[in-house]
Amino acid sequence: MDLTSYAEWAVRLVNDPDPPPELRGLRDELVAVFASADEDTLVARLNALLVRYPVRPQLSGHDGQRWHLHLADDSAACAVMGLAAVVAELGADRLGRCQDARCSRAFLDTSSNRSRRYCSARCASRANVAAYRARRSNGQ
Ligand SMILES: [Zn+2]
Ligand SMILES: [Zn+2]
Repeated sequence: MDLTSYAEWAVRLVNDPDPPPELRGLRDELVAVFASADEDTLVARLNALLVRYPVRPQLSGHDGQRWHLHLADDSAACAVMGLAAVVAELGADRLGRCQDARCSRAFLDTSSNRSRRYCSARCASRANVAAYRARRSNGQ
């Protein structure tokens, strides 16, 4: 099972301004995870969601593959499990929000040095241009 792809799905849901009605509640809960003020809060919120949306693993064999585990078809449980796996394997600081105040979209920081600050190259370059203009108008 590829937990990172579930985590990426969770991020897409957080960034979806108009999710399908059946995912609205989950989206609000995941937004709260990403908006956590500190790591303890983030982990406590994820742990609460892990209790509320338990995963039900199933052995599956298809397309000539060996038996392997699938999470039962429950997108909420998979999303929560995916985010929890990212925190466990990479760290809670990998769940980021874009530093551009007008954007603040969620992202997963998979950079090797945990340096990611913006959701996209577009937001990063917009911030660079703004910083450049600010320096110039200060006469530097
Ligand atoms: Zn499979
Ligand atoms: Zn952004």
